[in-house]
Amino acid sequence: MTRIVYADNAATTSLSRHALEEMMPYLTKEYGNPSTVYSLGRSAKKAMENARAKIASALGCRPDEIFITSGGTEADNWAIRSAAIMKKDKGKHIISTVLEHHAVLHTLKSLEKAGYEVTYLGVDSAGNISLDELKNTIRQDTILITVIAASNEIGTIMPIAEIGALAREKGILFHTDAVQAVGHIPVNTEEMKIDLLSLSAHKFKGPKGIGALYIKKGLRLPSNMYGGAQERGLRSGTENVAGIVGMAAALEEAVSNMDNNIKKISAMRDRLIDGLLKIPYTRLTGDPVNRLPGSASFVFECIEGESMVLLLDQAGICASSGSACSSGSLDPSHVLLAIGLPHEVAHGSLRLSLNEDNTEEDVDYILEKLPPIISRLRDMSPLWEEKISGKPIK
Ligand SMILES: *Cc1c(COP(=O)(O)O)cnc(C)c1O
Repeated sequence: MTRIVYADNAATTSLSRHALEEMMPYLTKEYGNPSTVYSLGRSAKKAMENARAKIASALGCRPDEIFITSGGTEADNWAIRSAAIMKKDKGKHIISTVLEHHAVLHTLKSLEKAGYEVTYLGVDSAGNISLDELKNTIRQDTILITVIAASNEIGTIMPIAEIGALAREKGILFHTDAVQAVGHIPVNTEEMKIDLLSLSAHKFKGPKGIGALYIKKGLRLPSNMYGGAQERGLRSGTENVAGIVGMAAALEEAVSNMDNNIKKISAMRDRLIDGLLKIPYTRLTGDPVNRLPGSASFVFECIEGESMVLLLDQAGICASSGSACSSGSLDPSHVLLAIGLPHEVAHGSLRLSLNEDNTEEDVDYILEKLPPIISRLRDMSPLWEEKISGKPIK
């Protein structure tokens, strides 16, 4: 049997055993509806509120600032659309970046169709934005700044605290899609002056289909879902109690082990990066230092990313090319183009994302299996022949 090396933790993670154990009662005997008054319902409600308190404590906010959603996508949609509607009398200008996830990008596109104007800040070749450019982009009618906390594709970490301070000073709402950051690097809504923050459980070893939106106290965000008035009237629908409990357990675990995890995971990441950069015509994408602990992303010239991913799969390695969400489309990811890579180079992208479950043996295995796959694909590539012979092919 081939071994499986899972190196796609930016796409999703395995469920934490601790989270599963905490969830089990709420998938079996504790099935009460939290809105009911008898004890079966009350105990579900208690578990849910206990979970909300854990999530709040992980982010440095109040429990009544945490609103449960079905995941990162819903939190992003809710935050951005609601902020736009709420502030439309002040203006219709929104500032974002070219690094955003599709959950943000496509929400912004829909607002552009509805008459809003969005400025997308560009990034340098390492994926960093310029705070000066952000400052100069702010206008009288700017109502929202929405910036991803850390890139899901290239791992670069954004200066969230600096953006938060600037937005607060200018009286502009600040939302961050922190789906890749929460549970992995320190995030504090108070210190970073964040008004709205999206998170998703399945990116930190919680269950899929559950997430949260942090809404700063006092913001009167419009409702995301009308009905039975759950989540203090803002997001109706019978709660996913087991999911909420699992999300909180996974987050508490991730935050309590964060320092050790960062050390362990970034050491493996660096060994992977050093090893793979020995392959000729290979570049690291994203910032070499200012990046997520588990993120190792590359482009290999004269390689077709999808073929590489399929051959890696045959060797038992799970990885992504571009972004999982843009697979299936022929265009290279908008993020790789935004950092200035030519189309043909961006096609050869590979994202390996590690977490605390990976081992040094996993790194050895990838370092053993990937270089021959690259050689094999290049041997079949006319572009490669042209590149090494220095002669254009006819
Ligand atoms: C995964 C991801 C999302 C979407 O979260 P879901 O819970 O899968 O809907 C949004 N933003 C970023 C940066 C992500 O990595």
